[in-house]
Amino acid sequence: MIIIKDKFKLNDLKSKSLGFVPTMGALHEGHFSLIRKSIEQNEKTIVSIYVNPTQFLPGEDLDAYPRNEEADLAACEALGVDAVFLPQDIYLENEPLILAPKSIASVLEGASRPGHFDGVLRVVNKLLNLVRPTRAYFGKKDAQQLFLVQNMVKSFFLPTQIIPCEIVRADDGLALSSRNVYLSEAERCEALKLSKSLKLALALVEDGCEDLGVIKAKMSEVLNGLRLDYLAFMDEDFTPASNAKGKLIILIAAFFSKCRLLDNVWIKHG
Ligand code: AMP
Repeated sequence: MIIIKDKFKLNDLKSKSLGFVPTMGALHEGHFSLIRKSIEQNEKTIVSIYVNPTQFLPGEDLDAYPRNEEADLAACEALGVDAVFLPQDIYLENEPLILAPKSIASVLEGASRPGHFDGVLRVVNKLLNLVRPTRAYFGKKDAQQLFLVQNMVKSFFLPTQIIPCEIVRADDGLALSSRNVYLSEAERCEALKLSKSLKLALALVEDGCEDLGVIKAKMSEVLNGLRLDYLAFMDEDFTPASNAKGKLIILIAAFFSKCRLLDNVWIKHG
């Protein structure tokens, strides 16, 4: 496995198909599933590890964000990754900026973190231009991010296929996240309400319930006691859904003492 720090050395990574997994490190099984899929589908795989400052708002956890480079590199090596990119100096003082479309970037995550998605698209655009992968892998856990990245790739005619990947959970249902380390034991138990409520919603829809009011009420019973940021029902195109007849994404975010956790479920997708 090679470690690339100099962005201009990425050109050396020639192959028939190149898979790319952008991450902020503190790698866990969620990231590993993306990496495994990339290795399966491409001749070579490159992983980037970069805690991107432009997607953090002032006062957020940029400095405290978990970093574990040594363990991350060892895990990548063990998985069979061909190269790890550790970006340096990728921002210039004066550069054109990307604005995520307001209608999507100002709701849910964007409402809580204004400007966050501008920073996400800014770094993903740079990384895709530097790495020039055949395919890039993104988790459905960050559903709004995935949608906005797909939208950017389509809008800018970028020659990379975006591959959405399923959410990986702990045995008890909690969606894996680098930020789970911020949870106390008691909070971790409380956090299980997120996946439990989503599982219930899925079961209700599978039983034929199409009324979002009913689904929301039943989910709220499970979520009782959590400090919710949002519970939202969105269509595939990230506009608010009016019923559960077609494709639907149910998204939740909740506050804990040291972090905010996200979870979601994709219904009637594939
Ligand atoms: P991050 O390091 O948090 O920026 O995540 C890097 C990529 O891994 C993103 O595309 C995430 O959506 C994805 N990811 C993070 N957690 C999970 C998970 N539990 N299951 C699947 N993908 C995940």
